[in-house]
Amino acid sequence: MPINENLVQEIVQEVMAKMQIADAPTGKHGIFKDMNDAVAAAKKAQAEVRNMSMDQREKIITCLRGKIRENAEVFARMGVDETGMGNVGDKILKHQLVADKTPGTEDITTQAWSGDRGLTLIEMGPFGVIGAITPCTNPSETVLCNTIGMLAAGNTVVFNPHPGAIKTTIYAINLVNEASLEAGGPDNIACTVEEPTMETSAVMMKHKDIPLIVATGGPGVVTAVLSSGKRGIGAGAGNPPALVDETADIEKAARDIINGCTFDNNLPCIAEKEVVAVSSIVDELMHYFINENDCYLASEEEQQKLVDVVLKGGRLNRKCVGRDARTLLSMIGVTVPSNIRCIVFEGPKEHPLITTELMMPILGVVRAKDFDDALEQAVWLEHGNRHSAHIHSKNVDRITRYAKAIDTAILVKNGPSYAALGFGGEGYPTFTIASRTGEGLTAAHTFTKSRRCVMSDALCIR
Ligand code: NAD
Repeated sequence: MPINENLVQEIVQEVMAKMQIADAPTGKHGIFKDMNDAVAAAKKAQAEVRNMSMDQREKIITCLRGKIRENAEVFARMGVDETGMGNVGDKILKHQLVADKTPGTEDITTQAWSGDRGLTLIEMGPFGVIGAITPCTNPSETVLCNTIGMLAAGNTVVFNPHPGAIKTTIYAINLVNEASLEAGGPDNIACTVEEPTMETSAVMMKHKDIPLIVATGGPGVVTAVLSSGKRGIGAGAGNPPALVDETADIEKAARDIINGCTFDNNLPCIAEKEVVAVSSIVDELMHYFINENDCYLASEEEQQKLVDVVLKGGRLNRKCVGRDARTLLSMIGVTVPSNIRCIVFEGPKEHPLITTELMMPILGVVRAKDFDDALEQAVWLEHGNRHSAHIHSKNVDRITRYAKAIDTAILVKNGPSYAALGFGGEGYPTFTIASRTGEGLTAAHTFTKSRRCVMSDALCIR
């Protein structure tokens, strides 16, 4: 092959890209000391992404999917080690889910009208650089899932992650940028700062080059983002009730509820946080929880001890969030066999372990007189978050009434909560469920601006 200027340039660029990856010490791709520098780098990268074909964006995403699959266990272990929350097995599954099923560029579609007066399209364009705030409960899952969707839509992203998960987040952001460079894209398609704080978050939110902020976390951060004066997507807290009526397959309902509730030690915001069951089947449901699904029945005294530890000083004790049932029980001096995976008890809806979003495998069961009473109590327990709810019933009219009354972004019928994330259910996954602002399960299309493109009196060839 004759050597010409272009070929030399190509070889030099390829070698430079490889050297950048090899030479960069851990924590370099996309990692900055100063938030302003992170935004500037992401802006430069977005100018390149903006001019890429959809096919080039998809190549980066394909490369990233491969890297997430290869690193699923690394991420799972790192997340558990750093945050002390969740369990490695389920976190591996969550990363595999992100890699395999997060929508890419195929989610960017076009609407068209053609007729005598020409052709009109609505196309989905990028916002530019998105500012994203992420939780410590699903740290790398959220960063990776957000990045795939945002990049597919033509954006780049600056994260202000939870400081308690910064190591895991930096690893994820390094991986994203390595995938981009390997696939011929720019560095810094995802960026963050070495030490995220409330101050770096404020700089990001106020920055003139950030037109959209996506917040995944509790009520505080969602309120902060919605008060920023910018467009905000708010994925906030939930307290999902699982309603069980007498028409349900009670044995299956018990199995689904405990599988959903214990997944990653109850960290997912969509997971069953309490049960409301009609009185006639409560005892049967409890029987299946305890005898067939490895649940431990906490006495009143043990419930009080759990309240004292889990809600120490009236506040959620972060040391208990995402811990497994045996660890939680050991904190109140109770030793149980290794198969125990959930703590159950019956109590009123006002019980602090029932009314609070705990994010740990403690599952209170509230007894209701009948379906109407169950519906009313479940709606009360969801606290108007409009986030997630679940129901086990074979009565379609009741399911419809519940769906309308509770009005949540997610409602799983007759299955475990994680079916809503496409895990054992149809549809795509996300770890940013925009409950407060109504976008629901976010994906690439959520991170786009609508643009109308009109050709007058031409290009209609019907
Ligand atoms: P958290 O609210 O403590 O923190 C979330 C993020 O927001 C972190 O990065 C934190 O540093 C930041 N933050 C908190 N207050 C802020 C403020 N006033 N201004 C700016 N940034 C602020 O939540 P967490 O413990 O990391 O995560 C658990 C919570 O997140 C639960 O309530 C859970 O339901 C919710 N969550 C929701 C979704 C969803 O998709 N809707 C997904 C995961 C978690």
